[in-house]
Amino acid sequence: MNRGHIIIDIGHARGTGAKGNGMEEHARCEQIAGHLRRKLEAAGYKVTVLDFPDKINRADLVATVEAANALPCAFGISLHMDAAEQAVDVVDEDGDHVVRYIPNPKPHGAHVCYVSATGKRMAQSIARELCTLLPGRAEQVQKRSGLYILTETRAPWVLCECGFITNPEDAATEPAQIATAIANGVSHFFNS
Ligand SMILES: [Zn+2]
Repeated sequence: MNRGHIIIDIGHARGTGAKGNGMEEHARCEQIAGHLRRKLEAAGYKVTVLDFPDKINRADLVATVEAANALPCAFGISLHMDAAEQAVDVVDEDGDHVVRYIPNPKPHGAHVCYVSATGKRMAQSIARELCTLLPGRAEQVQKRSGLYILTETRAPWVLCECGFITNPEDAATEPAQIATAIANGVSHFFNS
């Protein structure tokens, strides 16, 4: 049974995204994507994973949008990890006070971004599951009309921030559990 074609986009190139707790964003999202692909395929969806690990920032985004728009896709899901910083006042070798930014371990929780009306319903469906696993954000879904991946793709699209890589509990959450939460949200969306 083919239930439709879903694209999973692994955010960022290798080593260029957020870092924390000994992890980096691309590697973590790649793990989540692997589990998510298998779960969605088992549920009857056709899945394409888009990843341009060696293209940085804009080139990665442009290539992802071009590839996505060439596919007959029902839905797109971008996978990301959040990060938080805090400013600290330190005294440098000359005795001057300077501001340095270091990871902030406190903020935690997932949220899902969208721009279209259909994207909003998908975001709500995924957030219901994902934010139960990774709670902590006041706004579980967020309209982001400035995000290129959301505005330039033709298919409805959501961007999942799968918790904070800088928070120890979020970073310790199993990629397979995160994938299960997202896959359950996708199923609820298509079944409702
Ligand atoms: Zn990101």
